[in-house]
This record gives sequence, C-alpha cells and structure tokens, in this order.
Amino acid sequence: MPRRILVTGGAGFIGSGLCRRLVEAGHEVVCLDNFFTGRKSNVEPLLGHPRFELLRHDLVNPIMIEVDQIYNLACPASPVHYQHNPVKTVKTNVLGALHMCGLAKRVGARLLQASTSEVYGDPGVHPQPEDYWGHVNPVGPRSCYDEGKRLAETLMMDYHRQNGVDVRIVRIFNTYGPRMAEDDGRVVSNFIVQALTGADLTIYGQGEQTRSFCYVDDMVEGMIRMMDQDRILGPVNLGNPEETSIIELARLILGLTASSSRIVHQPLPDDDPVRRRPDIALARRFLAWDPEVDLETGLRATIDDFRARLT
Ligand code: NAD
Ligand code: UDP
Repeated sequence: MPRRILVTGGAGFIGSGLCRRLVEAGHEVVCLDNFFTGRKSNVEPLLGHPRFELLRHDLVNPIMIEVDQIYNLACPASPVHYQHNPVKTVKTNVLGALHMCGLAKRVGARLLQASTSEVYGDPGVHPQPEDYWGHVNPVGPRSCYDEGKRLAETLMMDYHRQNGVDVRIVRIFNTYGPRMAEDDGRVVSNFIVQALTGADLTIYGQGEQTRSFCYVDDMVEGMIRMMDQDRILGPVNLGNPEETSIIELARLILGLTASSSRIVHQPLPDDDPVRRRPDIALARRFLAWDPEVDLETGLRATIDDFRARLT
C-alpha cells in the first residue's frame, strides 16, 4: 500500500538511498534535511519526481506535517562532523528524537529511529548482541553522539510505553558505499580518496582495531524490513558480521585501486573502539535479513563512484 513517508536526514548518505528505494516502491516521500552534511546532489535524481518533496528544515525545531511513517536519520554520522559542534549534535539527537516522537504521537505514524553501534561504546562483549548495555564514556569527545543516540532510544521506548507510539529501533553498524561525502572523514571515504589521489593512507594507531563494514544497499533493505514488520520493536542490530582490521582495509583498497600511495600512522583518537562486530541473530530471525554484498564487491562499486566524482 503506498504511504506518505518522512525521511529526516534524507539528503545524507544513507537517507538518500532510502528515499530512492521508497519512491521506487511507489511511496510518497518527504525528505527533510538542514544540509549540514547532506547534499542536494544526493537526491538530485529525485528532484521533480511527482512523489518526492525536499524540505529544508532543522530538526532541532518542531515540524507539523501529516505522514504515515517516519524514518529518523537526521544527525551527522562521521566523528569529524559530529564533533565539530558537539552541543548541536546533542540537540539534533535529543530534540530531533523528541520532535519526531511528538509528531508520531499526534498523527499516529510509525517511527523508526536510526540508532548506532556507538551505543555499545568500546564494547566489553564481542560480537555485540542487543542485550549488551554497552561501555560508553559519558564525558568524552564521542559522548555527544553516543549518549545522544542512547537518549534517543530511551525517548522512543518511553513514548512507546507511555503513549503507545509505534516505534522501531535499528542499531546501524559502519556502513559505506556510493554517495559518501569525499570529505566526511570516515575511514572508507578517507582511504579511497587518498588512494585515488596518490596521498598517504592515514591509519590511526597501528590499524589493528576492527570494524564490520556493511554496504549501503543492504542497510537500506534492512531498515525497510524493520519498518514494515509487526513482530519486533527493537533495538535490532543491522550490520555486516564480517570483521576487518583497519590495516587490512587499507591494503584491500590499495590493491583494488592499484594505487602506489603509502601507508602512514597517525595518533589514535581518544575513545576509539578497539573491536566492533554485530551479532545479527535477531535481524536474521525476525527480518530474514542478511547482508548480501561482500566487502570487495561493495568497495569496487564505491571506488567507481568516487573515481567518477574526483575526475
Ligand atoms: P550523513 O551525515 O550523510 O547524513 C545525516 C543527514 O542528516 C545529513 O543529510 C545532514 O545534513 C542531516 N542533518 C544533520 N543534522 C540535522 C538537523 N539538525 N536537522 C536536519 N537534518 C540534519 O550520515 P549517514 O551515514 O547517512 O547517517 C544517517 C544516520 O544513520 C545517522 O542518524 C547516523 O547516526 C546513523 N548511522 C550511520 C552509520 C554509518 O556508518 N553511516 C552508522 C551508525 C549510525
Ligand atoms: N580511521 C583511520 N584512518 C582514517 C579514518 C579513520 O585509521 O583516516 C580509523 C578510526 O580511528 C577508527 C576506524 O578507522 O578506528 C573507523 O573510523 P570511522 O571514523 O570510519 O568510524 P567509527 O570510528 O565511528 O567506527
């Protein structure tokens, strides 16, 4: 059944992929963004489509709109961007979630919150299942994001228990793919830009820390499945359980780009998690979801997209 769907942060990397998929599925999509890290060019193919609307709005302010579903993605995701103005990051996470809960309550919409693996902090349990409560520094440089996202989850569950709001929570693990901003500071985009431009690949620390990288199309599929089912509210982890160290990632990207860039080491940022890998048993069981794109295939597509943009 076609629905009217609000996607906050819809001009960002994941949001723009989600908007495209929802429009293609026949829904009417309102994409809301303040263009802090998002870009109009991400949704350019949708501009002018009769079922697509782009709204410039900052989610720290409330908004009145009639919709059936809300995907709440508004929030810078890269450490460089969310630490640029940490107070604003807290406001976006907390006031943004509050406004979306209020909107969902008023219009009876289902609300999906894009949470994060960062709620687990530097995890003491590996891989991370949803019932692990995390190991988060509340006063560090990452706290504006980690604690902001934790409070957003709290708001979702309190609005659900107190007001019956129909919520869904997904915890997104590192996601990459075409349309990532070249300057967004995350590891995949940094390494690809560096490899393609002949610059040194900057590994923070020894590169033995791990992440699990999920291709964006798999992530969007998981988010839509979570929204469109009635069996579980979440939180549900979404991510690729294939774990890779940062040094392995650097070598893989150097190989795939046939680059002669060198690897250099820079200091490890404070509170940088040592290991991260999702336990996706819940997503498999309740959403029948499993990532389909392996790292090498996904990186090839991402590299092609960056190459086209950089030349
Ligand atoms: P992104 O930075 O590309 O997208 C975020 C979007 O939100 C941008 O378009 C930005 O302009 C917009 N935005 C930021 N503050 C806003 C505000 N106050 N009002 C309105 N719009 C605002 O990041 P992304 O990778 O697409 O991430 C999307 C969501 O997924 C975020 O909530 C992020 O926390 C979550 N997430 C992403 C990852 C990942 O690896 N990409 C991992 C975990 C969680
Ligand atoms: N990283 C790195 N070089 C870079 C950017 C990041 O070695 O140019 C490391 C970073 O320290 C972290 C990992 O790569 O250990 C993933 O960083 P990213 O910012 O992509 O995401 P997050 O730390 O939020 O998972």
